[in-house]
Amino acid sequence: MTRLLTSRDMAKIACRACRGCGACCRDMGDSIHLDPYDLYLLTENLGRSFSDLLNISVALRTEEGLVLPYLLMKEDEKGLPCCTFLDREGRCSVHSFRPGLCRLFPLGRDYDGTSFSYFVVEGGCDMPGKSKVRISSWLGYEDLASYEAFTAAWHYFVKDMQHILRQSHDPEGSRQLALYILQKFYVQPWDPVRGFFAEFEERLSLIRRAFS
Ligand code: SF4
Ligand code: SF4
Repeated sequence: MTRLLTSRDMAKIACRACRGCGACCRDMGDSIHLDPYDLYLLTENLGRSFSDLLNISVALRTEEGLVLPYLLMKEDEKGLPCCTFLDREGRCSVHSFRPGLCRLFPLGRDYDGTSFSYFVVEGGCDMPGKSKVRISSWLGYEDLASYEAFTAAWHYFVKDMQHILRQSHDPEGSRQLALYILQKFYVQPWDPVRGFFAEFEERLSLIRRAFS
């Protein structure tokens, strides 16, 4: 049975040095989903807008009616698909502000209906010689409590919106809702002075109220 963990638990997942392995940054298709905080960190730190990154490092796909971004894979010099942020030495060029799923790997999240737990993904990373690390350190977020609250809130919001879209018999209305969510949570810039999490809460409450 999969052992469920909290961020205070230790897990044997730390490879002391990936040594340019980069396997989890290659050929990942559209599986590295990006949440609004990922895009906030990328746009803030790179000094680029969401539109600047679109089709360069980020792409969009429709997921159960919602239009959501993921990390784009492009051919490297050997013609193999890899993340556009992987440098020639096989290292992440955005390491300090890399997306949440990159930080998480080789952990996964198990959602229980209101919150979530962590678990070690079986066969996630084959690098031998792993050591134990506290999950909070592995993730490396300054304000982990706020990040975890955001992650759960975003997950359940996406699920709720997808449920609404599945029930809808109004294709144009559904399209407008999907584009509104994309605009509100990804395209519209965040105010770094106010802090992402406070502003996210505000935007989320606004939309939640409209559907309550
Ligand atoms: S596959 Fe494992 S060892 Fe390789 S880069 Fe990813 S986490 Fe590091
Ligand atoms: S953002 Fe960094 S860690 Fe994530 S897939 Fe790209 S290179 Fe790898």
